[in-house]
Amino acid sequence: MFRRALEAEAPMQIEKGSPSPGGIPLRIEGVSKTYAGRTGNVEALRPVNLTVEPGEFVCLLGPSGCGKSTLLSIVAGLEEASGGTIWANEQKVTGPGTDRVLLFQEAALFPWLDVLGNVEFGLRQKQLSASERTRIALRFIDLVHLNGFEKSFVHQLSGGMRQRVAIARALAINPAVLLMDEPFGALDALTRDRLYSELEFIWSSTRKTILFVTHNVHEAVALGDRILVFAPRPGRIVSEFRIKLPRPRSLEDHHLVDQAAEILAALKEALGEDEQENSNGQSK
Ligand code: ADP
Repeated sequence: MFRRALEAEAPMQIEKGSPSPGGIPLRIEGVSKTYAGRTGNVEALRPVNLTVEPGEFVCLLGPSGCGKSTLLSIVAGLEEASGGTIWANEQKVTGPGTDRVLLFQEAALFPWLDVLGNVEFGLRQKQLSASERTRIALRFIDLVHLNGFEKSFVHQLSGGMRQRVAIARALAINPAVLLMDEPFGALDALTRDRLYSELEFIWSSTRKTILFVTHNVHEAVALGDRILVFAPRPGRIVSEFRIKLPRPRSLEDHHLVDQAAEILAALKEALGEDEQENSNGQSK
């Protein structure tokens, strides 16, 4: 129902795909990370190889501590890899850039700016006139269904609305890849379910390439084209699933529920092996 309302109210032309047509938005080649700790090194991430296709929605799924956020931070250019290379739109990543925008669990909005000001903010880095900035910002505020809230301040918005502002702000910059680190983790279940529909709608309208971190199997199956399952100690990818369920997807659909159960079983098996390895290690 919510989707239908969105489609009815926001029929618009949005610039689709990555800024460099035909290019691979994201290539991760042998990227690893080891943190030096006081009691020894932590192998947060074993070498990861991953190519994300234009417009693909890829979920990184696994429990806490298996290196998902570390990988996302390295892709965002906020963390340095211990080994390997990241290519975004065929350019080597050496630091943060507007071609990769990272969204967190808590929408990092500016409380002194209204919704319009927040969405316009990222566009200040581009050489645009003030009226062009406003035109683009309004287009994305419309896309995330916040028409009428342009002049509202952050404290006047619900958690779900704040996340939608953050998504609009990120999309307005037109990054090659949108990086999302458990963006709905702090929201109540009802708001979260509605935002799955909304994100799916936004993604299908813009065909933006998305790398999405979650520990929620149903969330991953509801949203992803592809799911990479991670296991901890050391953080690594243990399996990969392609999700071919038709969209829009419903959490109640039994095909989705079955697929989630299959992935959960794979995850449990990987975690079981992990525990066995650890207990073998301890007994040696
Ligand atoms: P996830 O996102 O899957 O929960 P993280 O990427 O946050 O996992 O963490 C992977 C591993 O790296 C964990 O063991 C974590 O404790 C460790 N780690 C993460 N950041 C740091 C850091 N800055 N210093 C030391 N260890 C870290």
